[in-house]
Amino acid sequence: MKRFLASLTLALTIGVAPVSAEPLKVVASFSILGDMVERIAGDRVELTVLVGPGGDAHSFEPGPAHAAALADAKLLVVNGLGFEPWMVRLAAAAKSKAPYAVASFGINPREMDEDHAHDHGHGHGDGHDHGHKHSHDSQGYPSVPHDFDPHAWQNLANGVVYVRNIADALAKADPENADAYETNAAAYIAELQELDAWVRAEIGKVPPERRKVITTHDAFGYFGDAYGIEFHAPLGISGGAQPSAQALARLIDQIRAENIKALFIETMSDARMMETVSRETGAEMGGALYSDALSRAGGDAPTYVAMFRHNVPLLVAAMLKD
Ligand code: ZN
Repeated sequence: MKRFLASLTLALTIGVAPVSAEPLKVVASFSILGDMVERIAGDRVELTVLVGPGGDAHSFEPGPAHAAALADAKLLVVNGLGFEPWMVRLAAAAKSKAPYAVASFGINPREMDEDHAHDHGHGHGDGHDHGHKHSHDSQGYPSVPHDFDPHAWQNLANGVVYVRNIADALAKADPENADAYETNAAAYIAELQELDAWVRAEIGKVPPERRKVITTHDAFGYFGDAYGIEFHAPLGISGGAQPSAQALARLIDQIRAENIKALFIETMSDARMMETVSRETGAEMGGALYSDALSRAGGDAPTYVAMFRHNVPLLVAAMLKD
């Protein structure tokens, strides 16, 4: 009897481990990663998103309030590939010791197009180490050579890698909820794989010679590679610098010569340049695509999944236009 009680007490002690009172504090760099964290973790974490709906991570300038959000965070979820060069300064200012979950870790990074290799010179430069290959260091923002395209989430196969990386990092930071993160991630990944098949079927409706699209900044390189569309953009990868008159004239010539019908802006970009291109070429504006930021709740693309559901029909309709 005594032995029975003793083992019962032991079992109770083990079985009724205290439930952690505080949810894990997580900071995600921009809205798409924030949505992924939410899908995987729900209210098991307290999430702060630095560059929110409609924001432009390329030109983001963090302030003291952002540093405060980092101060007691237990996990920093970032894209990597040089997308958030400001994160290094911010983490230093906040004296953050939190590990990084680098969502893009393990994807096949896309080299930046030659045309755009020189037009994104500003806004970068901090925290990069030109001499090193993409390295994974859980204690710091990964250093990458300058010339990788960061918009890897635009390929849903990469999105699956993002979800795995984020779920693994959450499980490591919060082992008590690891099973829930794993279960949610598996269901989410199945949904993304289904979405990927749908995107392929939709793009498949467009004859290959018509699969050409103009966007403001070069955010759809991974999308184009994955789904067989040629994207051209006057503003390059980071969308910062204005194109030269010569570059714009070249683009207009190309649109005319190749009879490109699909002309888009991104939701976070200025429409004026594309309106000029539209006037010059007669190609109609196909609408606004979500590339680097989601919409607010209740908008056209409040989630990563909704972004594809919004963008793909617009792209297909514009490419099929006569
Ligand atoms: Zn971008």
